[in-house]
Amino acid sequence: MVKFYSIRFRLTAVFLAIILAVMIIISLFLYSTLERYHLNNLLDHLQRTGFLASEFLVGHLRGQIDTVRLSSLAENISRQAGARVVFIDEQGMVIGDSVRVGGLLNQKLEQEDVTAALDGEVSNSVTYSERIGHEIKQMAIPVREENEGVIGVIFLSTSLEDVYQTLADIRMFLFLSTVLAMAVVGGGSIALARRFTGPLEELTNAARKMSEGKLDQHIEFTSGDEIGRLADQFNIMAKKLNYYTNNLKKFAADVAHEVRTPLTTMSLLTKALKEHEMEPQQQKEFVDDLDNELDRLVQLVNDLLELSKLEKNQVEYEEITMNFFLKDMVRENKYRFSKSNLEFYDFIPDEIMKVYAVPMQLRQVVLNLLDNALNYTPSGGSVSLILYREDGEIITKVEDTGNGVPKKDQDFIFERFYRVDQARSREGGGTGLGLAIVSEIIAKHNGRVWVESEQGKGSSFYFALQAANE
Ligand code: ADP
Repeated sequence: MVKFYSIRFRLTAVFLAIILAVMIIISLFLYSTLERYHLNNLLDHLQRTGFLASEFLVGHLRGQIDTVRLSSLAENISRQAGARVVFIDEQGMVIGDSVRVGGLLNQKLEQEDVTAALDGEVSNSVTYSERIGHEIKQMAIPVREENEGVIGVIFLSTSLEDVYQTLADIRMFLFLSTVLAMAVVGGGSIALARRFTGPLEELTNAARKMSEGKLDQHIEFTSGDEIGRLADQFNIMAKKLNYYTNNLKKFAADVAHEVRTPLTTMSLLTKALKEHEMEPQQQKEFVDDLDNELDRLVQLVNDLLELSKLEKNQVEYEEITMNFFLKDMVRENKYRFSKSNLEFYDFIPDEIMKVYAVPMQLRQVVLNLLDNALNYTPSGGSVSLILYREDGEIITKVEDTGNGVPKKDQDFIFERFYRVDQARSREGGGTGLGLAIVSEIIAKHNGRVWVESEQGKGSSFYFALQAANE
């Protein structure tokens, strides 16, 4: 069904209106020019014939008037000129007529053009001829004798049928041209509009389906124009939306799963405490377990809050001197390492290295990396914090002599809730979010984070930030 407000209809209507207006203007101009041209041509022709004939007539009017000879002269001229030729003397009497039968010979011609010509003017007019049943063009030309003035008149008339027939042909041609132009332009604009609106309709359908929850939409439309680019952007947007929505669903499910385990344990412990008589020692163990699970839940909630804080962008970047920043962190954490019987080294050079970062977030990154080194390095091992500059980047490295990360897991450990060894992570109070937080913070700082590790030998976690301009 044609929708009157659709682009397709409006575009076609506008094109048709424009072409119709243009064709009407061109046709009117062309037609009036051609009409003028043909009528002027005819007039010229009659005038030339008249002047030529007047040369002959002057001689004849001087002597005795011979109407038979004059009529056959008129007939000759008429044959060549294709017009009726009538000779008239100075009294207005017809003295020669190319029409022999039923002509005007010997009649007085009281016709306006003739009267004007007798007064010395070339005169012409259009009138309807009963005799031939058509409009005719007629012209009266005065014949002059030197010093004597007007001594007669040549009256010429010719049918306008041919001229009108030609003009009618031209009219038909212009009409057919207009119809053809409108058909071509109409067809063209419909095709053009379809070319534009087809993809737009596809986009509308895809957007509607997305609003109904079907997010995996893709538009098969390739072209470099504006609509093609719109379709490309739509595809990118749909893909991202789909990806984020799936991620969000997965994240919600993961969180629920993470929360359920400590809650189930806590529920079992509480029931046991409530329903069974226990020795005070055993009771204390149960309460300690409850406390541990609660700590884990609190840590999980804290990490989740940390992640959601990262989504908000209201943070202030500051110039941070990494040397002092890391030295402070070494001081704050040294005790924890010695408590776990781990050597803790720092290699922080004197050369000042500055970055632009959000201090709280940078602290979180270093802390998470140190926490992991602490958790996954067996006692007796060592952990080093190293700072250096390379290719305009300030790189911080946390190296340990711990378990290492198997090659197959190295690509995934920065994802939320990914753990190489569930049990070991839990033991150390891990939530599976530490490296995800590191990765998101560093990404927000336009930096890079990566791991190099060999299973059983240890791991090195790096993060690189652009050096601040001095
Ligand atoms: P978690 O809370 O489990 O430590 P993370 O996101 O910090 O979560 O780390 C993800 C996983 O990467 C950990 O479960 C662990 O298996 C592995 N991992 C992280 N740091 C180290 C490390 N220094 N040595 C060995 N494995 C590590």
